[in-house]
Amino acid sequence: MHEASLAESILKIALDVAAENHAEKISAVALKLGEMSGVEVEALSFSFDVLKKNTSAENAVLKINRVPITATCNKCGKNFSVRKYNFFCPECDGVLTLKSGRELFVEYVDCD
Ligand SMILES: [Zn+2]
Repeated sequence: MHEASLAESILKIALDVAAENHAEKISAVALKLGEMSGVEVEALSFSFDVLKKNTSAENAVLKINRVPITATCNKCGKNFSVRKYNFFCPECDGVLTLKSGRELFVEYVDCD
């Protein structure tokens, strides 16, 4: 995962939203981030803080809402939160289908 280019995309989305709403300042950008998206949160925040300088998002806070990995068993239909990347059902050994954890998108942008 390339955090710097990801931060650039996030910033662009935020600036586009601000432009559409004729807002001068962006106060917050919320990101939905699945535990399986493979993004290094610290690297992402750092890149975002560097890139936002001298833009209308200069004072914007990057809020990261992490989504846990959950899966459903194909055999018995039970739902589980997945730990240690074990994709087999702890109850019946069936194969699990991922339900959440891959999210990676801008949830909302707060403008002033
Ligand atoms: Zn099962």
